[in-house]
Amino acid sequence: TTFIGGSIAGLGDIYGQIQKAIGSSERLLEILDEAPEVSTADFQQIPVAGDIEFNNVAFSYPTRPEVEVLKSIQLKIKAGEKVALAGHSGAGKSTIVQLLLKFYPVLKGEVKVDGKPVNDWNLKQLRSNIGIVPQEVLLFGGSIRENIAYAKPDATEEEIIEAAKKANAWQFISQFPEGLDTKVGERGIKLSGGQRQRVAIARAILKDPAILILDEATSSLDAESEALVQEALDELMKNRTTIIIAHRLATIRKVDRIYVLSNGEIVEQGRHEDLAIQEDGFYANLVKLQFAE
Ligand code: ADP
Ligand code: MG
Repeated sequence: TTFIGGSIAGLGDIYGQIQKAIGSSERLLEILDEAPEVSTADFQQIPVAGDIEFNNVAFSYPTRPEVEVLKSIQLKIKAGEKVALAGHSGAGKSTIVQLLLKFYPVLKGEVKVDGKPVNDWNLKQLRSNIGIVPQEVLLFGGSIRENIAYAKPDATEEEIIEAAKKANAWQFISQFPEGLDTKVGERGIKLSGGQRQRVAIARAILKDPAILILDEATSSLDAESEALVQEALDELMKNRTTIIIAHRLATIRKVDRIYVLSNGEIVEQGRHEDLAIQEDGFYANLVKLQFAE
């Protein structure tokens, strides 16, 4: 289905996790059906301001009830703030995002968006207010136009071009003979990693959500793409509550607050400058290990 690109990829490594953890195609399809990118014509979105709160949240995956992967998580992110989740693989970063997106019910503690528990949110309403730029962007087979306008099928040509320009994507799109109608995917042209990222950013700009989730790519782009993608992301993040699953020091330096996770707990929080100088701090050590480039 045309869902694959915008949805599963939208959650970065969830696809792999689901496959590993469950290995059942049935369950996977269920999750696909609940894809975060919502696309419906006659749907009236109720916009949110973008406040996010995790109040004493603990969580275990239903398949492994004996393991608590989040423990008493406290987060308070005000509308428009930019925060990063940092920590080793398996620390719980993606799980936090999955709870925000209501992939699982919150049974211990509360997750709130604009003061209302996500459990009480209509799934479509909730997800229509959240944009995602995944780690590994997979576009679906179709035109660039369809890929950008996915979350807003009634977008005008002008709106699509404006989004593409803001995403630093128009430059390469306009060079294709067929422009926005250029087909991508298996039967179309192959875009570079940086180009796919910018198409995903254009999609998010057009969707215009109050809340944004960025799962940073771990594999690096070439220097030029990197700069173009970063500039596009900066444009996208303006005036939106942003949660970045951070793998790169460059991004993390600029955020309002970094939450450092270890074993499902927030072990440190603060700005880069403050955390980086903590002697033997978790973050300081992460910086030394992970970000030593
Ligand atoms: P991170 O994103 O920081 O790498 P995750 O949130 O993906 O960490 O994972 C936190 C913990 O939850 C890990 O121990 C991981 O193995 C486990 N986990 C993740 N997804 C599932 C799942 N679908 N079922 C069971 N356990 C899972
Ligand atoms: Mg993850």
